Amino acid sequence: MNETPVIQLDGVSRSFVLGDEEVHALDDVSLSIGRGEYIAVMGPSGSGKSTLLNILGLLDRPSAGRYLLDGTDTTQLPDARQAEVRHRKIGFVFQFFHLVGRLTAFENVELPLILAGVAVNERRRRVQSALDELGLSDRAQHRPDQLSGGQRQRVAIARAAIMEPEVLLADEPTGNLDSASGADVIDILEALNARGITLIVVTHDADLGARARRMVRFMDGRVLSDEATPA
Ligand code: ADP
Ligand code: MG
Repeated sequence: MNETPVIQLDGVSRSFVLGDEEVHALDDVSLSIGRGEYIAVMGPSGSGKSTLLNILGLLDRPSAGRYLLDGTDTTQLPDARQAEVRHRKIGFVFQFFHLVGRLTAFENVELPLILAGVAVNERRRRVQSALDELGLSDRAQHRPDQLSGGQRQRVAIARAAIMEPEVLLADEPTGNLDSASGADVIDILEALNARGITLIVVTHDADLGARARRMVRFMDGRVLSDEATPA
């Protein structure tokens, strides 16, 4: 069986112009990722990891090349369609959580369901069950500034996963956490992967990277290596 990859990049480049200088954040990257894979993306600071994730997450567009998500060429989609696809298929977890500060944990997780037009009763049920599952039910009414870093990141993961996306992208999700909270966060991400979600984690942490089944290393915007990690 030759299943369509969930993600396919063909010769993707992304450059930024800064004054007279052009920075090649991604330079001719081709990558194929199957459904349900667990991939670590590693590489030095400035090697293009976040740029890659932003493109995969449809937060940014390539300057050249094609990005097929589920076989659909996203580079041909108008912005509004692209936003719809992102909303339905992509979950994003960031190093600094990016929660809405004036909303409670419950409301942060509920937000994508409101955007999707899910009815209030079903929203309540789904958010409650997501918070329960992540051990956050007693924090539902807390705002982000009333939560620890680890709790904030768990809320962010609940929000990213609530729409049951096909792909979960995490950009240094443990980069701002102590090691115990970081380990919790990774356990949660891996549990989502075990349920079939495609998981792509950018990390600086070699131990963490080694837990993924495949590691892609970047250098200067290019793929330096792409290998299965030893079991
Ligand atoms: P990493 O996440 O691996 O640290 P990035 O993808 O953030 O690297 O950045 C790759 C390169 O692209 C860096 O040289 C960075 O300075 C540059 N870059 C990233 N985003 C922008 C931007 N919005 N404007 C200009 N340059 C950028
Ligand atoms: Mg980065």
